[in-house]
Amino acid sequence: MEALLAGLNEAQRAPVLQKEGAMMVIAGAGSGKTRVLTMRIAHLMQQGVDAFNILSLTFTNKAAREMKTRIGTIVGNSEAKNLWMGTFHSVFAKILRIEGHHLGFPPNFTIYDSQDSQRLISTIIKEMGLDKDIYKYKQVHSRISSFKNSLITVKAYFQNPELMEADAMAKKPRLGEIYKEYVDRCFKAGAMDFDDLLLRTNELLARFPEVLAKYQKRFQYILVDEYQDTNHSQYLIVKALADRYQNICVVGDDSQSIYAFRGANINNILNFQRDYDDVKVYRLEQNYRSTKNIVEAANSVIEHNQTKLDKVVWTANDSGPKIVVHRSLTDGEEGRYVASNIFETKMNQQLKHSDFAILYRTNAQSRAMEDALRKREIPYRIFGGLSFYQRKEIKDVLAYLRILVNPNDEEALKRIINYPARGIGATTLDRLTIASKQYNRSIFEVMENIQHLDININNSTKNKLYNFVNMIHSFKIMSENQDAFAVAETVARKTGLLQELKKDGTPEGIARIENIEELLNGMRDFVEGQKEIADATGSLTEFLEDVALATDMDKEVDDIDRVSLMTIHLAKGLEFPYVYIVGMEEDLFPSGMSMNTRSELEEERRLFYVALTRAEKQAYLTYTESRYRWGKLIDAEPSRFIEEIDEQYLDIQTPMDTYRYKPMIDSDIFGEPDKSKLRLKKPVSGTPPTMGKPSEEQLRKLRKLRPQAASAPQTDELNGKLQKGMHVEHSRFGRGQVLNLEGAGQDQKAEIQFQTGGIKKLLLRFAKLKIL
Ligand code: ATP
Ligand code: MG
Repeated sequence: MEALLAGLNEAQRAPVLQKEGAMMVIAGAGSGKTRVLTMRIAHLMQQGVDAFNILSLTFTNKAAREMKTRIGTIVGNSEAKNLWMGTFHSVFAKILRIEGHHLGFPPNFTIYDSQDSQRLISTIIKEMGLDKDIYKYKQVHSRISSFKNSLITVKAYFQNPELMEADAMAKKPRLGEIYKEYVDRCFKAGAMDFDDLLLRTNELLARFPEVLAKYQKRFQYILVDEYQDTNHSQYLIVKALADRYQNICVVGDDSQSIYAFRGANINNILNFQRDYDDVKVYRLEQNYRSTKNIVEAANSVIEHNQTKLDKVVWTANDSGPKIVVHRSLTDGEEGRYVASNIFETKMNQQLKHSDFAILYRTNAQSRAMEDALRKREIPYRIFGGLSFYQRKEIKDVLAYLRILVNPNDEEALKRIINYPARGIGATTLDRLTIASKQYNRSIFEVMENIQHLDININNSTKNKLYNFVNMIHSFKIMSENQDAFAVAETVARKTGLLQELKKDGTPEGIARIENIEELLNGMRDFVEGQKEIADATGSLTEFLEDVALATDMDKEVDDIDRVSLMTIHLAKGLEFPYVYIVGMEEDLFPSGMSMNTRSELEEERRLFYVALTRAEKQAYLTYTESRYRWGKLIDAEPSRFIEEIDEQYLDIQTPMDTYRYKPMIDSDIFGEPDKSKLRLKKPVSGTPPTMGKPSEEQLRKLRKLRPQAASAPQTDELNGKLQKGMHVEHSRFGRGQVLNLEGAGQDQKAEIQFQTGGIKKLLLRFAKLKIL
C-alpha cells in the first residue's frame, strides 16, 4: 500500500483512494491518467475487491496486458490474471460468445473484418442490380458502420424519414435495403462485424434484463481509459453496466480526442457529470513525461482551439533541447535527414533504436522513411498498414479454417469454394445463393443436401460440390481431435493451396508460400503456448478470435531492437524519448480533407497535440518544399501548426545547418558500423503472428536460427536444476523469473513472471525454457 502510493503525487492519490462512486479524471497528456487507472485497480484489490468484479477498458489489448503485469507485481499475478481487461471489442466479443445465443448467434460466431464486410456489401449491390459507381461499396460500408455506432438499427432507419431522405438526395434511395440485406446475411452466416460487437452487446443488455443484471452484478467497478474517444455505442454499454453500482472511473483528455471522424463523441466527457449522481471530477496538472520545452510548446498549440476544457499542464522536468524544425527539398531528403539524425543521436547518446519513433499523418508517408532507414541499415517496425493477416494467401487459409468452425460463414465460403479452382463457377454459386434463400438455409447446408434438392445444377457440378463438402467434413473431423496447427497444415496441403502457389513460380508466389509457412509457425507457437498453460484449451476458435481482434498495436513484438513507425492515431497513449513528426505541411497536416470546418481543423490540431506530447526528451518537426502527391510534384508549404508554437521553444534550422545531414559515410565518423547490430535490411510491413516480418531474407535467417534453437538446452535437461527465483528465457514469452515450482517429474510446473505478458504457469515437459 505504502509502495503503491509512493509512486503517486497528491493529486493522483485522490482518485486512487476514493473507493466508491462515479469519478472522472480530466487531465492533459503525460500527467499520469493511465498510471492512476492502473494504481486504482491495484488499490481496489488490496482493499479486498475481487478481481472478477472489476472491468477495465483500454485502447489496445497491449495496454491492457501491460497494466495487468504492473498490477500483478503489486497484488500478485494469480489474482491479476482474473481481471477483465482489454479493448471494448475484445471484452464484449468474449461476453457475446457466452450470451450471443439469446440473440440467435452461435457461440462460435465468425468475426467479419472490414474486408469481409465490404465484399459482402459489394455482392449485395451487384445482386440488387445497382450501379456500382453510385453505390460505392466502401462508402456504403462506412454509412452502415456509422448507423451501427449510433445504434440506428434497420428498423430505426426505416422509421426515420430524415435519414431516408438524406440517402435519396445522395442518389442512394435503396441504401436502407442494402443495410437490411447486409444485416440479414451476416445473421444467417453466424457472423458479426466489428460494429456488431458493440451494437449486439447493446441489444443484448437492452432486451435481456436478466443478462444485464448478471453483468451489472459482476462488474462492480468499471474503469475506462481514453474516455474522450468512446463512441455512442460504447458509451451506452458502459452506462448500462455501471448503472447498478455507479462505481465508475473514467479518465481522458478532451484535447486528445482524435476519433470524431469515426463517431467518437466528445460529449461523452462533457456530459459525464449529468449521467451519474454526485460525480467527483479530478484534475492532474503535472506532466512527468516530457521536457519543459515540449510541454509548453504543446500548451501553446492547443491554445488555438476554441472548443476545449480549461486545463493546466506543467512539468518539473528540465527544459531540454528546443524542438528542432527542419526543412528539406524533397521527401527523400527528409527521410535521409531523419535516418541520419537517428543514427547520430543513437551513437552519441548510446541509445536503443526503440527510443525513437517516427510519426506521420498518413500511412503513405512511411515509404520514404523506410527507404532511408534501410539504406542506413537501421531496423524498424511499422505499425498499421496492411497487416499480415490481411494478405490474400493468409486470408485464404484462414477462410478454410473459419468454415471448419462455422460452416455458415458465407464470406469465407465464397472465398474458397473455387480456390484453388475446382470447377465451381460463378453461375453455380449464384444458383446456390438463390437456393439458400429459397430454402432459408446457408449455402453450405444447401451444398450438403445437393443430391436431394431440386436445383438447376448438372450432375457433374453436383459431384464437384459433393467432393468439396466431403473434404471440408474430413477436415472438420480431424479438427475435433487434433490441434489447430495440424489441421491448418493439412488444409494447406490437401486443398491444393500450396500446390497452386508453387505452380505460380514467380517471386511473389514464393513469398506467398513463405507467408503461409510463417502463419503455420505462428500457429504452432500458439498451440504449444496454450498447451503449456495449465488451464488453457487452445482451440481453433480461440486462434481465430485472437487473429480477428488483434489490433496492429497488439501483435507480438520480437526482441529485435527497432525504431517505431506509425500514424499519429496509433501513437495515442504511447511515449518515446525521441519523436520525429514528419510531413509538417499544409494540406498534409492539417490534412487537406479535414479543413472544411472549424471542428475538423480543431481535430487536426488535437492530433498534432497528441503527436507532440508523445516525446519525452526531444521532438523534431520536418517538412519538405515539394512532395509527390497523387503522382504530381507539388510545392509544399510549412504547416500552420509550426507557426502556432511559441517561437521561444523552437530551433529553426536554416538549410546551411542541415548541410551536415547530407548523406555521409558512417565509417568515416564512427569507424565500421557493427554489422551484428544491424539485422534488418528489408521493410517490415505488417507483422506475422510471432515474428517481425516475413521477408525472404528474414525467413532464411530464421531457418538458420531454428536448428540452433533446437540444439539449445531444453527444459528436460534442466529438470531438477530449475529453482525458485531463477531468471529464465522462453521462446515466446521472453524473459522472466521463476516464482514457484510445483509437482514433480512429468507433471512439474513452474509459475513464471514474465517481463511482458504477465504470469504464466508452464508445464516444464513442454516449455522451452533456458536458464539465464
Ligand atoms: P496520455 O494522455 O498520453 O495517455 P497519461 O496521462 O495517461 O498520458 P501516463 O502514461 O500515465 O500519462 O504517464 C506518463 C508518464 O509519466 C509515464 O511514464 C508514467 O510512468 C510517468 N508518471 C506518471 N505519474 C508519475 C509520478 N507520480 N511519478 C513518476 N512518474 C510518473
Ligand atoms: Mg494514457
